[in-house]
Amino acid sequence: MGCDPFEAVREQVTAQDAARHYGIAIDRHGKALCPFHNDHRPSMTFKGGRFRCWSCGASGDAVDLVRGLFGGTYWEALQRINMDFGLGLALSGEITPQQRAEAQERQRTRELHKRFEKWRENTINQLNSCIRVANTADWANLTPQEEEAIRQRERLEAMADTLSHGTPAEQMQLFIDRKRVALSISSILKTSQVK
Ligand SMILES: [Zn+2]
Repeated sequence: MGCDPFEAVREQVTAQDAARHYGIAIDRHGKALCPFHNDHRPSMTFKGGRFRCWSCGASGDAVDLVRGLFGGTYWEALQRINMDFGLGLALSGEITPQQRAEAQERQRTRELHKRFEKWRENTINQLNSCIRVANTADWANLTPQEEEAIRQRERLEAMADTLSHGTPAEQMQLFIDRKRVALSISSILKTSQVK
């Protein structure tokens, strides 16, 4: 069968096409109100056939967008696009085990990606809180957490920077190391908030 139907859709329908088709208004800056969170200022942008929300972190291609809007499986979203855009891909009822396996694998990858994105966003926030502890510390009367924050400040800043602007590989390295990252954070945040 050779041809991945997800790939075929991606080549023909961009996330932007799908957004327009299903009623998401795109402003003159190419931004849209994100349908996946309570968006008040357009946070969603489109690039290279994909969408991304800079507020809630939702991202993906046309199939992801449609699945997010209508629910169901990736396969159903694919079929919906195939129908609504008249792509004429031979999909209905003829799902081979290989296609099903590929679709499931894709879904797993996406879920992993989603988990990573959530972790990334949370961790950036926490690291920034830690850095704030260091920056606002009262030098005349340091708590153990403030001392810890000051001692680790450079490392905390480097990690926050990597998670915001680093390459995917650098970010993945921190994700793999996430227990150690969490340990640093908890040594600073846990009790300093009670102070
Ligand atoms: Zn959003």
